[in-house]
Amino acid sequence: MAKTIQLDIATPERHVYNNEVEMVIVPAIDGDLGVLPNHAPLMTALKVGIIRVKVDGEEKLLASSGGFMEVKPDQVTILSEATEFPEEIDLERAREAKRRAKRRLEEDSQHINEARAEAALQRAINRIKLAKGE
Ligand code: ATP
Repeated sequence: MAKTIQLDIATPERHVYNNEVEMVIVPAIDGDLGVLPNHAPLMTALKVGIIRVKVDGEEKLLASSGGFMEVKPDQVTILSEATEFPEEIDLERAREAKRRAKRRLEEDSQHINEARAEAALQRAINRIKLAKGE
């Protein structure tokens, strides 16, 4: 039985990661989902959260801003709206995005797209959490 599974992570902008891995745990829309080699085929939407990749006995973490995952027995494909490794995250930019989103949510205006501001807030909090190793 195969001990690894091929993992591909891509965004509309770039190819983020491509490797044989032991396991990947993703923030699926209805909870964290771990995928091992020979997993049954499935497709799921992903929410904002941390992707955990187990590779060569180590764990790599990525911040994911949501997207989709397709699982086949020997391959996992993640198409994410945006994904970063901790060292790629600009902490000050994320803090500024968080401040901006919070300000919008606090504004008492009918012109605010609340869902959009809430989503931006969640992305920023997720990036800050990963960049700070929390
Ligand atoms: P911002 O308002 O700062 O652009 P955002 O959450 O709206 O944040 P996204 O639309 O999710 O940004 O991402 C757009 C692109 O910018 C993606 O390539 C993403 O990886 C990158 N990106 C966003 N925020 C950061 C950050 N803090 N550090 C590094 N890259 C980032």
